[in-house]
Amino acid sequence: MFTADFLKEVNQHSGEKVQLCFQCFKCSLGCPVSFAMDYLPHQLLRMVQMGLKDRVLHSHTIWVCAACETCTTRCPNHIDIARVIDTLRQMAIKQGKPAEKPIVAFHKAFLNSVRRHGKLNEWELMAEYKLRSTRFLDDLWLIPEMWKRKKLFLRIRGVHKKSEIKKIFKKAKAWNN
Ligand code: SF4
Ligand code: SF4
Repeated sequence: MFTADFLKEVNQHSGEKVQLCFQCFKCSLGCPVSFAMDYLPHQLLRMVQMGLKDRVLHSHTIWVCAACETCTTRCPNHIDIARVIDTLRQMAIKQGKPAEKPIVAFHKAFLNSVRRHGKLNEWELMAEYKLRSTRFLDDLWLIPEMWKRKKLFLRIRGVHKKSEIKKIFKKAKAWNN
């Protein structure tokens, strides 16, 4: 189904000009996780241009993207594709259309930990993710390895200027409302 204002909406929230994409394919050629996507990055942008809102917001691609920004640095038209995809994720959550529920659970747990402390706390992330996803036994074998690599801290350490983090989340919330 075609949605007339979709391109405008995505441009407005991402601050990018998706219509500039001329389908050169450079973004998709550099994407390290394209093998797991249902639509390649350049196809996703084409679908945004065509106003295929439902298909884009239901896609697995927007959740598979690792936000590595390789595509962004390769685009000859300077489209920040990673930013566009992040915008699409937020739109999918807002409209209740996320295709990957466990990834959405991880996404929310990650953001909540950063919101609280200004940085990530891995214990907290794991606990909230498991509660949200109800995948209690998945990936438990990773804990000893994370501990060995000093990725797990018993004490929650935050950043100094938490007020700055609050401002960022406040701004994001204003957009979401
Ligand atoms: S930011 Fe996402 S879409 Fe772009 S190259 Fe990285 S994983 Fe692929
Ligand atoms: S690199 Fe840029 S212009 Fe080329 S297909 Fe990707 S988004 Fe479009």
